[in-house]
Amino acid sequence: MTDIISILPDSVANQIAAGEVIQRPASVIKELVENSIDAGASSVHVVVKDGGSSMIQVIDDGKGMSQTDARLSFDRHATSKIKDAADLFSLQTMGFRGEALASIAAVAQVEMRTRREEDSLGTFIEIAGTRVFRQDSVQCDKGTSISVKNLFFNVPARRRFLKANSTELMHIRNEFYRIVLVNPEVNFSLSDGTTELMNLPATTLKGRIEHVFDFARKKMDQQLLPISASTGLLEIKGFVGRPEYAQRSANQYFFVNGRYMRHPYFHKAVMVAYDKLIKPGENPNYFIYFETDPQSIDVNVHPSKTEIKFENEQAVWSIVQATVKEALGKFQVVPSLDFDLEGQPDIPVLDSNTPITQPRTSFNPSYNPFGTSSSSHKRPELDWEKLYGDFDSDKNKLKPASLDFGHSSIDFQTEEQQTELELSSSTAELFQYKLSYICTSVKSGLMLIDQHRAHFRILFDRFSKRIQLKKGVSQQVLFPEILELEANETDVLTVMLDELRIVGFDIEVFGKNTFSVNGVPSEIEAGSTIALLKELVSEVMNSEISIKDTIQNEIALLLSRRTAIQSGQSLTQKEMIQLFEDLFQCENHLYSPDGKTIAVVIQNDEIERKFR
Ligand code: ADP
Ligand code: MG
Repeated sequence: MTDIISILPDSVANQIAAGEVIQRPASVIKELVENSIDAGASSVHVVVKDGGSSMIQVIDDGKGMSQTDARLSFDRHATSKIKDAADLFSLQTMGFRGEALASIAAVAQVEMRTRREEDSLGTFIEIAGTRVFRQDSVQCDKGTSISVKNLFFNVPARRRFLKANSTELMHIRNEFYRIVLVNPEVNFSLSDGTTELMNLPATTLKGRIEHVFDFARKKMDQQLLPISASTGLLEIKGFVGRPEYAQRSANQYFFVNGRYMRHPYFHKAVMVAYDKLIKPGENPNYFIYFETDPQSIDVNVHPSKTEIKFENEQAVWSIVQATVKEALGKFQVVPSLDFDLEGQPDIPVLDSNTPITQPRTSFNPSYNPFGTSSSSHKRPELDWEKLYGDFDSDKNKLKPASLDFGHSSIDFQTEEQQTELELSSSTAELFQYKLSYICTSVKSGLMLIDQHRAHFRILFDRFSKRIQLKKGVSQQVLFPEILELEANETDVLTVMLDELRIVGFDIEVFGKNTFSVNGVPSEIEAGSTIALLKELVSEVMNSEISIKDTIQNEIALLLSRRTAIQSGQSLTQKEMIQLFEDLFQCENHLYSPDGKTIAVVIQNDEIERKFR
């Protein structure tokens, strides 16, 4: 029997390789533009016709190629970017397999003009289906211009597989974004031969992002908040969108060492940082750039794959989450901090030069929850000092937190250390509308604040903080109340006891399925404790949550929702001022913990229009 194995001719081998590297016109653009950037171009122009299926041209002003290199560049495994396997692990350039040009030339008709600065004449090469048709010296500009015609002309199955021009163009745009967003110092343009689809002059990173997505025209140019973190593990920089600009579909990008990546796990970290700041179903824009030792990520040897594996993903997750959260807390201010200065309560801004005054703690040890007339149907007047006194002391205990990730650590400057609030009721002009909304005039119009949601937010933040600090303030009750539960409820409560202690409950086992409640958080209204605890137990039981974080969150949510001022409750001037001031000290004063709008502003022009 004769031998049956033969080596495939180059043309076939290249076509097979092309199947992996070149899936559609957008892949050609990716490879060519990446080559231009690797060649140090400061301008890259891309022209596509018919969604790239009839022609793609990429023109750059990079370093060009010598005659020999020009010819060699189309050979498979021809690359100037790595010399040996070790180089694979310290890669800084975009391409590295030396397959792109060979693959493109295997499935399209390619013409290249290229010239180095030092050469007087450039090189022209025409190649199609791996066969070189022409090679000449020509006069041309410095740099490289490659045109790729009739993609998949010799692979009909593939050509038929191409989608409508508009779909291919969409893929091209997406691929283009991923490159231009990491190279703001390079000029780019994209045109379809007759119209310019994009023209991006060199600029800063922020400028590039705003330009690409046309934020100015969409009136979204105020939305980018810078993020940055520097740890032993990696550096993070970039921008995240303000929560109020979140939309159903958003632009979300991760890059590592100048390369686009998809990373669902880190995406989750960002989303967790936005938790409760955006409505369900909405997505924030983000543009997050990692720089890390190439050794600590899995080299993405497959050029069409965008998933990248990090060595220490869990630690990076925490860093991403904390960094984004920090930026959101630091920069989130009132929609427009444009309060009319006259006649408005003072909202103090943190000034690092003013000493932080120790707040008074007004804990009343002789407080008797049953002291107030229980026959009265009216809710007893709120004692705001008592309500907030101990919170303020909590607040001042909040030291900048520091997260430790083995060798690396990041420090967070919290903005929580605020100066004590001055209550100056004489300056206030607040008005309660329908016993539900607090109205006040701000520079841009008339602001309405939902009193329940506002107080819900304030209390939620404070309960959460206590849980975080593990320090609750409990008010001992004179007559402990007895809580009787079913056996399955007892199991749930037992799991929650620690968390409940943290928020201020003092609960003891009293007997089988029976507990005695000796102390309650100071904001809980007398007489409501047992019902509240039962509700809490059933909520936790029904939601089948078990992670400690979630239980704590649930406790904070329910406690704050139940103890918050309700609609229909009359408020004094002093109470309204306090509510107003406390609200705007919250990191997120735009949405309640369940994602509902807290404050709206009826714009001046809208009011004026009504009087026309
Ligand atoms: P790779 O980029 O992986 O090295 P390619 O097939 O994309 O492989 O390119 C092969 C080589 O051709 C590159 O290593 C580079 O030296 C050269 N080359 C390709 N495009 C350009 C360009 N636009 N300007 C200068 N040199 C280029
Ligand atoms: Mg390349």
